[in-house]
Parts: sequence; C-alpha cells; structure tokens
Amino acid sequence: MATSPNPSRTTPHILIVGGGYVGMYTALRLQRRLRSNEATITVVDPQSFMTYQPFLPEVAAGHLEARHVVVPLRRVLPKARVLNGRVVSVDHAHHVATVRPASGPATEISYDYLVMAPGSVSRTLPIPGLAEHGIGFKNIAEAIHLRNHVLGRLDAAASTDDEAVRRRALTFVFVGGGFAGVEALAELEDMARGALKYHPELGPQDMRWVLVEASDRILPEVGDRMGRYTVEELRRRGIDVRLNTRLTSAVDRRIVLDDGTEFEAGTLVWTAGVKPNPLNRSTDLPLDRQGRIVATEYLTVEGADDAFVAGDCGAVPDLTRPGEYCAPNAQHAVRQAKRLADNIVATLRGKERKAYRHSYAGSVASLGLYRGVAHVYGVKLRGFAAWFMHRTYHLSRVPTVNRKVRVVADWTLALFFRRETVALGGIERPRAEFELASGQDRAA
Ligand SMILES: Cc1cc2nc3c(=O)[nH]c(=O)nc-3n(C[C@H](O)[C@H](O)[C@H](O)COP(=O)(O)OP(=O)(O)OC[C@H]3O[C@@H](n4cnc5c(N)ncnc54)[C@H](O)[C@@H]3O)c2cc1C
Repeated sequence: MATSPNPSRTTPHILIVGGGYVGMYTALRLQRRLRSNEATITVVDPQSFMTYQPFLPEVAAGHLEARHVVVPLRRVLPKARVLNGRVVSVDHAHHVATVRPASGPATEISYDYLVMAPGSVSRTLPIPGLAEHGIGFKNIAEAIHLRNHVLGRLDAAASTDDEAVRRRALTFVFVGGGFAGVEALAELEDMARGALKYHPELGPQDMRWVLVEASDRILPEVGDRMGRYTVEELRRRGIDVRLNTRLTSAVDRRIVLDDGTEFEAGTLVWTAGVKPNPLNRSTDLPLDRQGRIVATEYLTVEGADDAFVAGDCGAVPDLTRPGEYCAPNAQHAVRQAKRLADNIVATLRGKERKAYRHSYAGSVASLGLYRGVAHVYGVKLRGFAAWFMHRTYHLSRVPTVNRKVRVVADWTLALFFRRETVALGGIERPRAEFELASGQDRAA
C-alpha cells in the first residue's frame, strides 16, 4: 500500500471524509476562518462535487439542468486539498485512514483531526428481484437515469401494438412515501403527463403510477394533516397510493404486494429510507445499534476529542428534544457543519467548544409544477403557495451565488419555453453504436 504524500505536517492536518452537505460546508467554513498556518485541510470523496439533493426531483423532471445543482469541490475549496477516492477504513487509534482512489493503489493518509461525513445509503430489504430491477433516488446519476428512463418508456409504449408490453412500459412503482419518493414520483408523473402531448397514441389513462408505503401515512415531515392532503392530491391526479402495504417480490419485473395485488412494471424506484454509510463499520469509532457514529452535543465522537461527526452518518443528540437524536436531513446537516467547523477552530485555538442546538423548522415539498405542501414554523400551506415557498426556500439554500443564478436562469427559461422531454437514454451506453458497427464490419 502506498503512503499518501500528506500536506506539510508542521501544521495540524484535518481530514474530512465525504464532501457532501456536512463535508463541504465544514471545509468552506474552515477555509474562511483559519489562517494559512493554523491547519491544512483534505476532503476525500469519490465525487468531485457536492450534490444539492433537494433539487434532484426537479432534475429528474427536467426543470433544472443536472450540472446546476452540484457544486464543484475544487472550485469552491481553493484552500483545501480535494482527493477523489473512497475511504475504506479509519484507524483512529493510529490517526490513519485508508483511501481507495478511482485508479491506482490504496493510500494511507494520516491526520490530526478527523471529520466523519460520509452520509447515508439506501436502506434496502432482501426482497426477491429488488436488487436486479430496482433503483434508488439519492444521487445525480439516478435522477438523470430516471428522467431518461421514464421518457424512454413513453417512447417504447408509443411504438408498440403489443398491449402487454405497453402496459408494462407505462407502469411506474415507487416504494417509500418519504420526501425522496413522493417528490420524485410527483415530479416525474407531472413530466410524463406533459410529455404525452407528443405521443398522440397514448393518453393519461394508459399510465399507471403506484406509490407503496408500509405505514399508514406519507410525508411524516409535514405532519398528519398535510400528509393526508398529499395522499388526496396524488389520488386526485390518478396516482394509486397504497398505504399499509409492502412490496414482497419484483422477480422478472412482476410486482407482488402483500395486499394480494400483482402486476408487471417497467420501473421500480426504491425510496424506503436510508441507513448510515457502511463505512462506519470499518472504523474503530463507537457505533449505536443502527450503525451511526455516536456523537456528543459538541459534535465530537464519543470518547475521542479529536474526531468529529455530523449529518446522516452520526447519532447527534437533539438538545431541543431530550433523549432523541437529530433526524437525517439537510436542515440539520448544514447547521451541524457550521457548529462543527467552529468547534474545530475553538479546539485549535484552545477555546471552549459550544453545543449544537437547533429546533426543527419544518418542511416543504414540491408535488410537481405549481403544486406543493409545506409545514414551516407551525404554518401549513398547500398548492401554489407551498410550491412557491419550496422554490424560494431552496433557492436561498442552494450553495454559492453562481448556482443560484443558474437555477433562476433554468426556471426563467422554463417560463417562456416548454421543458425538453426528450429521452437521452443512449448516453448511458455511448459505445453501443460503435460496437454494433465494428461487429458488422468484422462479420462482413
Ligand atoms: C432526493 C432527496 C431529497 C431530499 N430533500 C430534502 C429536503 O427537502 N430537506 C432536507 O432537509 N433534506 C432533504 N434530503 C436529505 C439531505 O439531502 C441529507 O440529509 C443530507 O444530504 C445529509 O448530509 P450528509 O453530509 O450527511 O450526507 P451527503 O450530503 O449525502 O454527503 C455524503 C458524502 O459522502 C461521500 N461518501 C460516501 N461514501 C464515502 C466514502 N467511503 N469515502 C468518502 N466519501 C464518501 C458521498 O459521495 C457524499 O458526497 C433529501 C435527500 C434526498 C436523497
């Protein structure tokens, strides 16, 4: 194993594992607050960008350009070293992390201070057929794929006379009624409905959109009343919302639900929750029963003063609800990152750290163009007002002025021109044409 040429070790070295919400915001604040001789910063992430996940449904729906909702780490972090690779283990007893870069051998990186921020991954179940046919909705690749896939299914359905093929192509199943699932389904259904005007062979009644949720409600983040409203709104649009229902099989794309329903579906999206990044288990840091790294209210790791943790991968005590932990969401991640960075600065300067405290402000969700639901600071909104609040809130939150301008430009263009509804699924297999041509040449 190679040993990484670490930055100068005359100054303390801060290693940040993950360049998402927590990782990027922590690094941004550290580079702003620290003097050049106070510490060096390294951020390790397999991607070279941070993803603003709340905008993924709008990317899938084609309201926003994919490149406008990601923040290039090297551009915004000129004072940090950005390494693209996956941290595969952390030996905190020896202050060493092992990184597997995109290519080349694994390297060991030593550090003085550790920030664990690798987030979460989709929480799946051992349901037959799920791994083969399902897809998550957590990253930019999945959002782009789903957009192309859904539009591709419309093209396929419009180009066949086989009723069974057409029905399968036009059946879309989403499992999990949290934010990601509901917003992704609502936005994609809205996009597909709009795209039907270019497919005179198809009508809205030919499409079947199904939301499967194991509990008795959806969108728990917006409260009971707004959750019930969302169910009604989706059903009014013809979406088949099934509460208290579980997926039991998806073998050969045949969907089997535990209420006895069976049907074929060309699309299966799994958004039934997240779990802490499995990297946590390859560290010697203390974990709780769910596999989260145990944090103190100062965002240090329990029992390790020089290791910090925040975001979806940590169990951070919620001081506003004694005995509970902060939910895995962006609202906490951004605020925790700020406190975490300030506590690192305080540690370096021999000052006192402060505890993290934030009471949850509520949530906003988009349900397609001009439709939404919100419950913020006790105020409940729905329809256009909630949708407008969703857009303005996230515009104010998306990092950097550059991104904000690009997002506004996308929305403004969409006001004057219809959104593009063309399937570019071929970009996922760019060599297919060339391989076909080469094969034909050889055969000739
Ligand atoms: C579709 C969707 C919509 C959402 N909408 C909302 C919303 O409206 N409001 C809200 O509050 N929250 C929302 N969330 C949740 C929010 O995005 C997360 O809670 C937040 O991103 C958590 O921040 P994090 O830094 O812990 O993880 P992330 O932002 O996911 O960052 C983790 C980073 O770690 C990197 N990484 C992973 N493994 C490794 C490794 N082994 N080594 C190095 N790096 C690694 C990843 O590439 C990633 O960049 C949404 C999430 C999704 C998926």
